Amino acid sequence: MRRSNLTVFFIVIAGLGLVVFGALYFRHQKDDIDPENAALSGKDGHTVVVIQPEKALEMLKAGNRRYVTGSRMKDPGVSTDTRKILLKGQAPFATILSCSDSRFPPEVFFDAGLGQLFVIRNAGNQFSVDVLGSIEYASLHSTPRLIVVMGHQACGAVTGAVKFIRQPESGETPALNSVVCNLIPAVLIAGKKDVNITEEKLIEEATRENVRLVCRSILQSSEPLRKMAASGKLKIIGAYADLESGKIEFFLP
Ligand SMILES: [Zn+2]
Repeated sequence: MRRSNLTVFFIVIAGLGLVVFGALYFRHQKDDIDPENAALSGKDGHTVVVIQPEKALEMLKAGNRRYVTGSRMKDPGVSTDTRKILLKGQAPFATILSCSDSRFPPEVFFDAGLGQLFVIRNAGNQFSVDVLGSIEYASLHSTPRLIVVMGHQACGAVTGAVKFIRQPESGETPALNSVVCNLIPAVLIAGKKDVNITEEKLIEEATRENVRLVCRSILQSSEPLRKMAASGKLKIIGAYADLESGKIEFFLP
């Protein structure tokens, strides 16, 4: 083959390669987009999707159903390919504020993969300015439009608060005391609602009350989040995890 023909041959092959690569790349990008939801362009040029609150809640419920019934996805999105795609940016569909307790990692309980949940954790899923800052970062600068505040069965932090009220001398370090003291209002509210409540039930109800208080604090402390919630663009709900069944119950705060 003459040299000029050889050059043309390589140019044609390279062109075909680019066309095939481009078709595969954009097909993959298209598959990631849910046409039912509004799409916007990310800062680095990639396309990200905003999942509306109702749809996000459905997705969390479906993921938890898979977890509870032992039918978790073989790969919920934790592969090498997913890691590479996520280098372009993140577009989580929900923000989760949960307790740090090692027995219920939200990604496992919701059968979720990398880049799907924006998770904030601390003992007793408590409210603080720093927690609010993380939530605002996610809601105002990224995609999640559903915020879930999640407590759980047999929470050690809430149990500590109940114990602290009954035996103040049980206090430990200043930092640990601060954690349990933040939960005392929730214990007092739960105790006031039923004065004959058992300790086990008091811990459960105080956990739910704490979730409600934290949900309210988030909205009361953040004008932009309040505006988004008022216009229906953002939803905040409470949740309670049953450690034995793995089931997450959602409730309005
Ligand atoms: Zn806990």
